[in-house]
Amino acid sequence: MSEQLILEPTPLNAVDRCDRCGAQAYVRATLLNGGELLFCAHHAKQYAEGLKPVVAAIQDETSKLTATPVLVSEDE
Ligand SMILES: [Zn+2]
Repeated sequence: MSEQLILEPTPLNAVDRCDRCGAQAYVRATLLNGGELLFCAHHAKQYAEGLKPVVAAIQDETSKLTATPVLVSEDE
């Protein structure tokens, strides 16, 4: 089981925005067709299942969210 793609991990930052809602992105999904999608933590969770078949790699930086004490109002 070593078919994992080795990607140059470019950290996500404040200019990376969720493709769905425009919030700061914490997850980058690299697609099998070479495309790229950015998601906030909320939408990453929402689309994770549906994206599985077309995603080559996931860069998940949602741990950043809990690492720093930031006030976030998350409406579920
Ligand atoms: Zn979003």
